[in-house]
Order: sequence, then C-alpha cells, then structure tokens
Amino acid sequence: MLKHLWISCVGFGCLIGGTECSPSGGSTPSAPLSSSRAIGLPQNEPAKEPFVRILLLQDVPSLYLALHGPYEIRHNDVVLQIGDGLPKTRVQAGSAETPSLQIGDLVYEADQLEIVPRQSGTLEIFFETSTGKWMSHRYEGSAVLHAHAPVARASGSSSGNSPATVDLVNVVKLEHYLAAVLEAELYPNWHIETYRAQAIASRTYVLFVMRTFGTRRAYDVHATETSQAYRGIDSFAPGAKSMQAVRDTRGVVCTWPSPLGDKIFCTYFSAACGGKTENVADWFELPSIPPLAGGVRCDYCQIDNGKQVYRWGPVLISKKEIYDTLRSRDANVAALGGLQTIRVGSVSRHGRPRILTLVGTNGQTLDVVAYDFRLALGGYRLKSTDFVLVDRGDSMIFSEGKGFGHGVGLCQWGAEGQARLGRRASGILSYYYPGSSLRRAYE
Ligand SMILES: [Zn+2]
Repeated sequence: MLKHLWISCVGFGCLIGGTECSPSGGSTPSAPLSSSRAIGLPQNEPAKEPFVRILLLQDVPSLYLALHGPYEIRHNDVVLQIGDGLPKTRVQAGSAETPSLQIGDLVYEADQLEIVPRQSGTLEIFFETSTGKWMSHRYEGSAVLHAHAPVARASGSSSGNSPATVDLVNVVKLEHYLAAVLEAELYPNWHIETYRAQAIASRTYVLFVMRTFGTRRAYDVHATETSQAYRGIDSFAPGAKSMQAVRDTRGVVCTWPSPLGDKIFCTYFSAACGGKTENVADWFELPSIPPLAGGVRCDYCQIDNGKQVYRWGPVLISKKEIYDTLRSRDANVAALGGLQTIRVGSVSRHGRPRILTLVGTNGQTLDVVAYDFRLALGGYRLKSTDFVLVDRGDSMIFSEGKGFGHGVGLCQWGAEGQARLGRRASGILSYYYPGSSLRRAYE
C-alpha cells in the first residue's frame, strides 16, 4: 500500500541546467539557472491532479488548426466566441506593435487566447515536416495561443523588424499527458512493468519541472525529446498498455529522503546505459544526490536485440566534417585552423569521456563538453559519449560505443530486461534510483 504524501516542498537547491531532465539526452543544453529556491505545492492544500502545459509550436509565423466539434475562444476566462466547429484554419499574430491574434478572418486584440473544445479529442493541429509535407495530430484538452509582436531590430540592421510570431501550448491533465508520452516513448511489445516504471519516472519528471519553472514561463515541457516525446492521441487506443500503466500508478512519484524530508527529484532516464549508470553532476547542473549518483551496474540492457544501443559502432567521421560542424556552432573552433586530432580530456566519475580536447592543425587546443560534441554530430549517430577514439588520418573512428543517451538514472532497455525477468516497477525504479521510494502525490 502506498503512503499518501503531500508534496510540500520538493526543491533541494535545484539548479536545472543542461536539458530539463531529458530522456535520452536529445537536446541542446541551455544556460543553467543561477538561483536555488524551494519549490512545491502550498502546504495544507489537498494535492490534485495538475494540468500540464506542453509547448507544441514556438515562434512560428503562422499555424493551422481545426476543431471537430463545438468550442469556445476565451481571453482571461471571458468567452469571446462560440462555434460548432472550425475547418482547417490559419492562425497568425498581427503585424502591428500591439500584439493581436488572427484566426481565419477574425482579429482579436489580445496577446493570448484559449481555444477550449467542448468535446475531448476534437482539437487538431497541423505540422509541416522537414520534407515540406503536412501531418496532423489530435489532442485532448485545450490550446493556448501566445502572440509575439514584431520586434524592431537595432538601427543600422539591414533586415528591419523581426516578424510577429505565435506559440501554441496544449493544456491537458497530467495523467492523460503521461499516457500519450508512454505511447511515444516505449515499444508496443514491452512489458507492462516497464510501462508502469516509465509512467512513474515521467510523472515525477514533469512535476519536478513544473515546480522548478512554475509560472515563470508559459509552458512546462516541450513536446519533443527535449523533455519527453508527446504526439497527442493519434496512436491512442482505449485500454492500451500505456493507459493501463498510467491508471495503475495514478499520482505515484519517486522521492528520496533528503535532509529536509522526502522530495521528488529530476528522474532522468535514457534509452540504454550500456553497462553502468552515470552521475547526474557530471552531465547536468544538479547536485549528486544518492538516487542520481550513478555507478549502478546494469547489463539488463543487453537485450537490445541488435538495435545497437547496448554496444554500437564503430562510427567513422571525417575530421573535415567534424571541424566544419563544430565551427558552424562555435566560433572558437575556427581558431584551430582545422582538426588534427581529438583526445579525451577528462572522464566522468564512472569513466565515460566527459571533456574532449580538439587539437588544431596549428597546434592550438580547445576543450569541448563531450555531451555537446555528440549532439552536434548527431545523437543517433554517436549514441553516447562512451566511446574509444581512434585517429585514422583524415578521419576519427568512434569505436567500442556503449549505451544510448546520457546514461543518468533509469535505463529504459534495462528496465525492460528486468521486467522480463519478473521484476516489478517498484523494484526497477529503486534499482536505478538507489535509496528512492514511491509515494502518492495526489489521488
Ligand atoms: Zn542499462
């Protein structure tokens, strides 16, 4: 039986940096927050299932949406319009200095609008893919539009004003969001206990991020692997494994016994650790708390069945490509004049290359974070930073690759390996997050 817990304060001087607790290290690190603060629900208030705000589109000049049923358009809880449905319609921000939003032919003098369907799953959003094709997803909950007025560039700039843009945020209940995340994150044939473990880790992660960023920004998580993959309800079937796992674990989170009491923590997870988990402090601006200290032995991710996540490589990349790629992202790289070789500058507490030293053709050197290096070259090409460097003249070979992702926290393939051996979700979570236990954050 799970103990009821009111999460009154889940912060522990958290400095979120790197990714916001990214599942497989698939994002570009951002600047760390510089302050620590207590975060959590107010005390003496019953905990309820929260809504989560997912950023679907950011700073786009326009977007398309459709509503397949009755809906309302609101601004600050005032209903501005009621409709029975909306065919595929263009939405854009006004070009005047005062922010406004245009939906079809109607212009609203507001910088923010909420579109609230009266029936679930009737909101459809259209996305243009990198190949120029269009696709769409259906979503539960509501959509919030944020307009950004055009910004005047500094005088002397040749390009005039930057255009007005729109952000689109989907607002849904957390449990529903989690079911969609599981659909996108896990393989359909994986064990229900893996689904349950992932549901608890994903829930804890979202609550941690929500309590860390709070109202300081207009969304909680990204819809991509920057946070957790989320593609609406398209692939969703009632009764699916993901829905069962979320229902079975409703409100349950991971906590650890901090000196200030039980707290949730940033439940990092990655696709495969490759043999041993990593310490969070080596990769992200977070303290090395016991559940994220790494060093957990795991060969359960060996079950990858040739998908090359437990072991991968060798991967050969020309020095010219490496140099050109890095130089386009970091002006300091140009000072090397070209790439002569790469050495491991330092390793993490658990032995994974952490800093790479680029040696230029002019003899100069530049240290880069291996995590950034990997993502610049492609997170699917170099599946982790756990590799051995071999210099082959014009190319570098990344050999003996281990694991997929940053390796901190839960190992997803390892969780599946343990589930197939009969381990329950609670056991899987306490294995990868040592010293942690499960609590119920809300009913
Ligand atoms: Zn593993």
